[in-house]
Amino acid sequence: MHAQTVLGPIAADQMGITLPHEHLLIDFEVMFRAPASASDRGLAYQPVSMENLGWIRQNFSSNLDNLRLLDENVARDEALLFKNAGGRTLVDPTNRGLARDPLALARVARATGLNIVMGSGYYVAAAHPPDMGARTEDAIAREIVADLTVGVDGTGVRAGFIGEIGTTWPWTESEKKVVRAAVHAQRETGAPLMIHPGRHERLPLEIVEMIRKAGGDLDRTIMCHIERTIADRAVLLELAATGVYLEYDLFGLETSYYPYNPAFDMPNDGERMRQILFLIERGHLAQILMSHDIAYKHCLTRWGGFGYHHLLVNVVPRLRGKGADDATIETLLVANPRRAFVFA
Ligand SMILES: [Zn+2]
Repeated sequence: MHAQTVLGPIAADQMGITLPHEHLLIDFEVMFRAPASASDRGLAYQPVSMENLGWIRQNFSSNLDNLRLLDENVARDEALLFKNAGGRTLVDPTNRGLARDPLALARVARATGLNIVMGSGYYVAAAHPPDMGARTEDAIAREIVADLTVGVDGTGVRAGFIGEIGTTWPWTESEKKVVRAAVHAQRETGAPLMIHPGRHERLPLEIVEMIRKAGGDLDRTIMCHIERTIADRAVLLELAATGVYLEYDLFGLETSYYPYNPAFDMPNDGERMRQILFLIERGHLAQILMSHDIAYKHCLTRWGGFGYHHLLVNVVPRLRGKGADDATIETLLVANPRRAFVFA
């Protein structure tokens, strides 16, 4: 049983405390939304600073600089905060179209001593290459398999899972094709599969149904961003019953305004913990993953954010205070990601 890092395979028991969803280096420009009005547009093109940080916290996808994590020395320093707090492994689902950087991830892994696991495949349609419509499912699957088994684009650095595979709502044909290709690649390699669901409460269930029909391994499928997708606990339990991992990966996002879907009130960490404790009570402890999905400057400590160590430093003590014992914490931070990220 092994996981595959950017520096090669490691035994599952080497993974330790694992963050299953963090971007260390990413160009997230595809998510940029230029504001409508002139003065806001001025803020949109400023570098992140104390003067505009409040505005950026509220409108985090409308500042171009905020969407860019392009400095590997910053990535290294911020990742070390997680390591110094006890972390061992960090999973980075940045994939094609988001400026994935295998060699820089390998350098950050060497510089920090962290295990770094890299993603493969394609994010949402907005990040697809222009000729995606003409590509075959088989060609996409073969490309993902090559990333996992040979290495990415001649670097020799191999991806460690398939994802995050992007979907939007409404779900596009190209995105459906990529999901089917991803399942193909999973069947061929035994790699974990990670899905970024579009923002509709029932879409995760639809995606799971497609994966199941295509012969995917639901026990090693991770559904991301649960807390910004599903508010109804009946739907949550319906998804949990399928057996997929439920990833609460927006810890540290404490503002309720959610620019990608203003109709949905983003829960805070308190509500995230309530949902997790509810799922545990219903017998789903072994399916829960926790992370921060850091992909923005304002999430990093250098720009006033909580950083990659937020879960360990701020959330775990609160979970203990709410009654989670050592074994539960160990399951959430170590055993679950270990099971999720080993190859079958
Ligand atoms: Zn995502």
